[in-house]
Amino acid sequence: MTTPYTLKQASELLQSKQISAVELAGEYLKAIAARNAAINGYITLDEEKTLAEARAADARIAAGEATALTGVPIAYKDIFCQTGWRSACASKMLDNFVSPYTATVVQNLLDQGMVTLGRTNMDEFAMGSANENSYYGATKNPWNTAHVPGGSSGGSAAVIAARLAPASLGSDTGGSIRQPASHCGITGLKPTYGTVSRFGMIAYASSLDQAGPMAQTAEDCAILLNAMAGFDERDSTSLERENEDYTRDLNRPLKGLKIGLPKEYFGDGCEADVKTALHNTIAILREQGAETVEVSLPQTALSIPAYYVLASAEASTNLSRYDGVRYGHRAAEFANLEEMYANTRAEGFGSEVKRRIMIGTYVLSHGYYDAYYIKAQKLRRLVANDFQTAFADCDLILGPTAPSSAPQIGSHGGDPLKAYLSDIYTIAVNLAGLPALSLPAGFCRNGLPIGVQLIGNHFSEARLLNAAHQIQLASDWHTKAPAL
Ligand code: GLN
Repeated sequence: MTTPYTLKQASELLQSKQISAVELAGEYLKAIAARNAAINGYITLDEEKTLAEARAADARIAAGEATALTGVPIAYKDIFCQTGWRSACASKMLDNFVSPYTATVVQNLLDQGMVTLGRTNMDEFAMGSANENSYYGATKNPWNTAHVPGGSSGGSAAVIAARLAPASLGSDTGGSIRQPASHCGITGLKPTYGTVSRFGMIAYASSLDQAGPMAQTAEDCAILLNAMAGFDERDSTSLERENEDYTRDLNRPLKGLKIGLPKEYFGDGCEADVKTALHNTIAILREQGAETVEVSLPQTALSIPAYYVLASAEASTNLSRYDGVRYGHRAAEFANLEEMYANTRAEGFGSEVKRRIMIGTYVLSHGYYDAYYIKAQKLRRLVANDFQTAFADCDLILGPTAPSSAPQIGSHGGDPLKAYLSDIYTIAVNLAGLPALSLPAGFCRNGLPIGVQLIGNHFSEARLLNAAHQIQLASDWHTKAPAL
């Protein structure tokens, strides 16, 4: 293991000049060359670009103009547009697309002097929960390569677990940061909707999509979020708020913190090893003076149908831009314009993306709009209201991130419904626009990591990160790495 650093450790080594940005990037590139093939976490690498950014970071450090993040390497999910890099969203449709512009969130990190290691694998257009829907092949779980890493930000989670990056960015529409974080034994935060700009993040379901940090620790996520968040006039859903310091509460004692345990999250759907991990976490929280109360989220089961109607509807609209005219794939053979559209889309999209476009188009069509789309919007409100009722009795909610540890590759066996049902604990958070994080909380008897989820009310990121940091000071699951 040559690159075990957390983001904070990497930052300290750079600031104390024990290592240069070029040396640090070189160490990671070497590790990636040796170990990435086993997991297929990175799908695009460009050593020259990485080293050029590292040299610029060293110049900035030498000039005394560095920030704490200058020279720290990071990996980006393939969903973020970045000038000069292929930004394909893991789709054949965008396989030839080199972005002419950079997403605001990536630009914010480049402005800090962070160094791009490469771009990570994902489910095509972020649709999936196992990273098996990628045009570039499945990513494998570094803890056991017969298993999936989760998805859709599977590559971003796997490269942290395999210690091939100290930090990465993911996006979360229905759990895609938290669920792979759980399956790979790392920490990942989905911020309050509107906190991080979506400009330049390729759209899946715009009312749900949100970018967030992924790293070994909650402390690293807090440091990264400070640099990521902020108002952006180029994203109409970006929130105009004062910038906050998300590290401010990391060391706050947990005495008196009220943790809600939703009874619907502790039922039969959740595997025994996951429940054990939850009880381990509850024990740590209680030792530190936190109290637990039972709460209820009665509409939990309805969040899955509501989400898959709304996300598919938005996806069908967002993905209509891939028509072979402006950018991306264009079919080589066609007799007329209509056939050009049809052949382009038939060739460019994978089967899960096509399924979602079909469902979305159906629920938005005349005669079905009221029955499905409007109904799902109403359910979305009920799901959101559940959380507000629960937060009247507690500060944070604790539950599982996923019903089990990472499944075996291929185990959903082409049954999309089975995959959709495994999103049960993550999806409601997106429908309600809330912040939530997943942190490591133990291991399954088969050796795979298990994460648990903390959910907060809008803008409670600092408190969530505080609770997760205190749990991590009292446990060591987040320090464990697979022997890859
Ligand atoms: N698994 C969910 C889906 O397939 C969530 C994906 C996501 O958060 N991007 O839509």
